[in-house]
Order: sequence, then C-alpha cells, then structure tokens
Amino acid sequence: MRDDTRRWIESDKAHCWHPFTRQAEWCAADHQPLVLTHGEGAWLWDSEGRRYLDGNSSIWTNIHGHAHPAITAAIRAQIEKSSHLSFLGFTHPLAAVLAQRLCGFFPPGTLERVFYSDDGSTAIECALKMAVQFRMQTGEPQRTRFAAFADGYHGDTLGAASIGGVSRFFERFRGHGYPVTHVRSVAELGQLDPAELAGVVIEPLIQGVNGMRPWPPGMLADLRGWCDGTGVHLILDEVMTGFGRTGTMFACQRENVTPDFLCLAKGLTGGTLPLAATLTTREVYSAFLGPAENAFYYGHSYTANPPGCAAALASLDVFRDERVLEQLPEKCQRLAAGLARLGRHPLVHETRQCGLVSGIELRQPDGTEFPAARRMGESVCQAARTRGLLTRPILDTIVFMPPLCVTGDEIDFALDALLAGIPEAF
Ligand SMILES: *Cc1c(COP(=O)(O)O)cnc(C)c1O
Repeated sequence: MRDDTRRWIESDKAHCWHPFTRQAEWCAADHQPLVLTHGEGAWLWDSEGRRYLDGNSSIWTNIHGHAHPAITAAIRAQIEKSSHLSFLGFTHPLAAVLAQRLCGFFPPGTLERVFYSDDGSTAIECALKMAVQFRMQTGEPQRTRFAAFADGYHGDTLGAASIGGVSRFFERFRGHGYPVTHVRSVAELGQLDPAELAGVVIEPLIQGVNGMRPWPPGMLADLRGWCDGTGVHLILDEVMTGFGRTGTMFACQRENVTPDFLCLAKGLTGGTLPLAATLTTREVYSAFLGPAENAFYYGHSYTANPPGCAAALASLDVFRDERVLEQLPEKCQRLAAGLARLGRHPLVHETRQCGLVSGIELRQPDGTEFPAARRMGESVCQAARTRGLLTRPILDTIVFMPPLCVTGDEIDFALDALLAGIPEAF
C-alpha cells in the first residue's frame, strides 16, 4: 500500500463517520477501504492506481460518466464567475433557464414551476410541505395524511423518512413526521378515505432501495386515474429514476403520466454536484399566491447553486448532443441478455430490470434466502471488486446500474465479474 493511501485511511478511520455504515467494522484494523481518487467515463480509479467499472453510478447519481468534458467545462466557466449566488431575493441566468428547460419536458399547462433544493430528501420535503400547505390554503386543512407504498424509500431527513416504508431504516423513528398509511397496490388505496389524504407518494416504475423491484406495467397510469378520481395529489419520487435511467427521460413518461409534484435530484446534474428540483403545477402554485402567510416559507442556503445549475444544463445538452436516449434500447437489450445468462446460475434466484437499472437477487440453491449473517451480497461484490467491478448490494440483491454512457462490452465485462464472483463468494 502506498504511503498516501495509508495516511488517508488512518485519517478517515480516526475522524470520518460514514453513511449507513457499521463504524466498528469500518475502523477494524483488517478493513482496508478503497480510496477513490478520480474517474473517467464509466470508470473509477483508486489511490493504488487500480481501475474499476462504476457499477452503481456512484450511488445512483452519475449519468454521462465521470469528468465528462462538456459538464466539467460548464461548471468551470460558472465557477470563474461565481460559485454561489443567493437565490433569496435575487435570481441568476442559469436557474431561470434550467427551470424553463425542465418544465419543457412536460405538456404545457402541467408542471410549470420549479422549486430548487439540494438533495433527493429535500426535494421530497418540499413536495410534502407544499402538498400539506396547499390543503390548508384551499379549504381542506383536514387533508394532512399521505399514502405511500410499503417498502418505498424517499430519503433520510425526518419528513421524507416518515413517508418511507423500509423498516430497517425508519422503524425506530415512527411516531415522528407525517401521518402516513402504507399500501401495497392501487387497489388497496381504494380502502382509504381520500378526504384525509393530501397526496400519495411513489417511486414510479421501480422501487430502488427495496432491491430494485419494478411495478407491474400500467400501475402508474392506474394510480394517476385513482388520483384524478379522488383529488389526491400524485407525488412522484424520480430521484433515482429520472434522467434516462429507465429508458425515457423520466419514468412517468413511459406511462404518459404527469404528476402533481415531480421530485428530481441524483442525476439532475449528471451526477456531478448536489442539486434538486421539485416541479409542480399551476393549480398547486396558485394556492401560494395572495396574502403573505400563503407564501412557501422554505429554503436552503445553497438553493439553485449556480455551478449545479450549469452542470444540469450541460447534462441536458449532452442528452441532446450525444443522442443518449436513442442509444439506450440497444444497451438495455445487452443488459437483458447478460441478466438472462446470470439468471441461469443456481444461486441467482431472480434478476429484475427496468431500463439500465437492475437487481440480481441471490438465494441458496433450494430457493431459500441466505442467512443474513452470511452477507452473501456483500461477499459477491467483494469478489467482483477484485475483477474490476465496483457495486453495492441491497441485502442479497446486487445492484447493477451503470452510467448511461456504458458500452455493451462494459456491461458484459461487469456481469462476467459478478458471475465469476458468485462461486468464489459461495
Ligand atoms: C436516493 C433517493 C432519495 C434520497 O435522495 P438523497 O439525495 O440521498 O437525499 C429519495 N428517493 C429515492 C427514490 C432515492 O433513490
């Protein structure tokens, strides 16, 4: 190990606290974390000079690859003017243009307002607060409850977490946050009293943190229909699915659905800088006009951060200039073929795919789950790492969702690394 690497690991173990991490294991003497130093395209390098395919798009954020020249140039150009400008009391060119371009993806008269924030969680917080305040200001203050889907994930700040349904993350904080009812299907929603509900929140087309589980085709359109019939607002969490991940720019476009709120983050800047956006309709926005107390009193210091907006605009340009969406069907087919190959392995229970997002669920040969303590998913990812693939499991489901710039050969390379890693881990 290089001296630099050793020093960085020492400092980290002495002072850093990592997300979702058992720190005692992280800091154990025999654990040598990778120190990632840079990336290019779909590849990452560590401080020892080793190269890895970025198999989870750097925690689901990266879209066009690392250090994309056009995005880097746009960020650099903005930083030379200013790294941050207040959006409170002022505006700036890039935020204005980006808002217009985001709304331009949707039919006129639908989503036409953009509220900026920082992360997926804050994009959700905004939508939830707007949805509740909307009811207060439109004569239905009793509509304070949300419906959400069992095992859904919407972020970790308190309000967003209270809507989530993945018990290992949220159970101990139940009782804080919004009143919420979890359901498993649109049919189950029918048993709720819509007069209590401000909105229903869903990850459209596929649940991410719940092990990459696609919804049945048509489900989202059915949900839109139910919302139309009951006046409950449809809040789409496209933090993971946005920006081409599922094959279309936004997942909701696959079922011709336009929500009342659309939450965007991770891929908004191409995965380069933290920036989020909550889009909503004229109907919702109108309720915040009028008397002073009707305004939406919410914001963060870095709202509409200019380099973030520059990156987001550049990322949209890359979609256009490099015809990114047009090339996805072929890559998705290559992934489907590779997953079919993996699916024949006796330890692969099921593979799930939506666009370039996939999950590979491991189980014992008799079909039962591995004991949790066996940490099979983790072991397979460790084995794949030595073959040049970086990714993370969700329990025993291996996530594979490369940046959209991945090539067919890189997809095969990654799946080969997993296939070789499974018996090794077993
Ligand atoms: C990652 C994610 C979030 C939270 O976003 P952060 O940027 O981590 O706060 C919310 N919803 C979904 C579907 C996500 O995948």
